[in-house]
Amino acid sequence: MPNLPYQMGWASTIAPGVRAHTRTLYSLRLSTTRQAILATALGHARNAVTYTLARNRANTPAAFGGWAAGGAAAGGAPAGFGFGAVTYLNTFRLRFHVGDVTDNQLRVLMERFSDRLVVLEAGLRGALELVDIPVMMQHQRARPSGYVRRYGEEGRGQIHLDYARITAGQEWSVANTIVHEATHKFLHTIDHCYIWEANKIDASTPEQLLNNADSFATVITDTGQQQLV
Ligand SMILES: [Zn+2]
Repeated sequence: MPNLPYQMGWASTIAPGVRAHTRTLYSLRLSTTRQAILATALGHARNAVTYTLARNRANTPAAFGGWAAGGAAAGGAPAGFGFGAVTYLNTFRLRFHVGDVTDNQLRVLMERFSDRLVVLEAGLRGALELVDIPVMMQHQRARPSGYVRRYGEEGRGQIHLDYARITAGQEWSVANTIVHEATHKFLHTIDHCYIWEANKIDASTPEQLLNNADSFATVITDTGQQQLV
């Protein structure tokens, strides 16, 4: 089956500046219903990144001791990994494997995350060309549900999504995939490990996980979907 360039297929504008491409008659065309679901998922992804950036900044320890206003003062910093309530700060520490660190170390990690969220937000809110994955890859594996091709060190291709997964009720799952792939495209993250690989996460440093696509996607979509504070 030919793997034709998406430019030869069909495209529809699903949001201002955002086109969804299908390649050929071999591939799934997006029905009007699926276009609407994809638009909703993209909105979730964009809003989740913006919301997460605000929560990350609000929870970042201040530079000279203490906590930023509206931050962790209410609940205090979590001790190690005995997490209780699902809060933004606990989610950040759990997903990026941040154990017992000083306020200053935590501040450095959270500021780095903010810096990367700013870049991700700008990319995700800009013009996008979303492309389906080849039909022979659809439904073939648990993952990936999308991909971004690399072209050398700096080049990154478009965000590809499995259109077969764009179904009612899956808006946040699709949003998660969009965020995951967008971090590959705009931040050049890698797939160091996936979120269900607890052993690999346990063996990873926060620095590694702050460059890991699935860690990003999980923190962002959990925070946005659950409106963590
Ligand atoms: Zn990936």
